[in-house]
Amino acid sequence: PPRENGSPVNPPVVLSSTYFGRGPVTAGGRGYARYSNPSWEPFEEALSELEGAAEPGLVYSSGLGAAASALSLVPAGGVVVMPDHSYGGTVALAENMAEHGAFTLRLVNIADTDAVLAQLRGEGPPAAGEGTGSAQEPDGTAGTGAAANMLWVESPTNPMLEVADFRAVTAAARELGALVVADNTFSTPLVQQPLNLGADVVLHSVTKYLAGHSDVVLGALVTSDPDLRATLLTHRSKHGSIAGPFEVWLALRGLRTLALRIERSQASAAVLANRLLEQPQVSAVRYPGLSNDPGHARAKAQMDGFGSIVAIEMVGGAAAADALVERLQLWMPATSLGGVESLIERRRRHTNEPESVPESLIRMSVGIEHVDDLWADLAQALEAL
Ligand SMILES: *Cc1c(COP(=O)(O)O)cnc(C)c1O
Repeated sequence: PPRENGSPVNPPVVLSSTYFGRGPVTAGGRGYARYSNPSWEPFEEALSELEGAAEPGLVYSSGLGAAASALSLVPAGGVVVMPDHSYGGTVALAENMAEHGAFTLRLVNIADTDAVLAQLRGEGPPAAGEGTGSAQEPDGTAGTGAAANMLWVESPTNPMLEVADFRAVTAAARELGALVVADNTFSTPLVQQPLNLGADVVLHSVTKYLAGHSDVVLGALVTSDPDLRATLLTHRSKHGSIAGPFEVWLALRGLRTLALRIERSQASAAVLANRLLEQPQVSAVRYPGLSNDPGHARAKAQMDGFGSIVAIEMVGGAAAADALVERLQLWMPATSLGGVESLIERRRRHTNEPESVPESLIRMSVGIEHVDDLWADLAQALEAL
């Protein structure tokens, strides 16, 4: 708001489905609230500045609403290369679109750069999921030479925390003329800025760290390309995946403390990952901040931190993992991540989680509670196993 006596300190929420207007409705003017809403704009501008974008962002009704809009950029019958351990809802959305003939989907281990490059060029062995709904490759074989139209990057992945060689895969995609969409939900722009690593579009589930309080479902896209932004805006307006003004107001309120929340949760995640490494009941700890983690060197080269998500595997398999979660009193057993409260879950409790995710894998979203309290709770639960 203007810095004038009597004006509010923060942008107000505007609850209006339509706007007063006489005469012709001009482009860029306010007509109806599916096309524009003053409550979206401060958040869209703030997110764009954080991601280092040249254009304002676009807020959506959910992260998956934003993903559907981003996937609409693929030409009909094109090819999308996507990490096999992308957020499960994103893979399900892409598989659904592929089944309806929108494009061919090639799933790949995003940490395996050679495999990603081969899939981008259409030279790879058949990837898991290859051929689903494919018009171009009806026999389900890859290597027919169809180059990709879009590379989807999620790094670190969910929940395996694999780290892509970001610059290498985006450079290869660009060489082929493929658009790069990067899901930056896990890292937030304070930890990783995909536009500076070669991505064309950045996606957020605002639901997670940006809003940060487990009280809204929202998504966003950010790009520096005015033509891409215009196409995405048209898609958002016509398909109607728009955000409620009150939710965006809450997200902007959450964004004001993002730096403090990330500072605290990242520091705690590092402490907890190191302590978990020493526990006999824990067979593996996945966290890019650990010096022996397979993604450590890449993460150091392309991120400004290592994020606040830790994954562990348990010696006693799924039963031990379930027992651990059961005994916790401070950690909240729940799906989702990025809120002020620490959330924990065994991922394979979701029946649609890929089988490549170990049965005993527990994903931990470290919140902003005191690290001693978080550790004390984990320690008592581990001891009781
Ligand atoms: C939650 C999530 C999404 C989906 O966002 P919604 O807001 O739940 O629709 C996409 N990507 C990642 C990495 C997520 O964690």
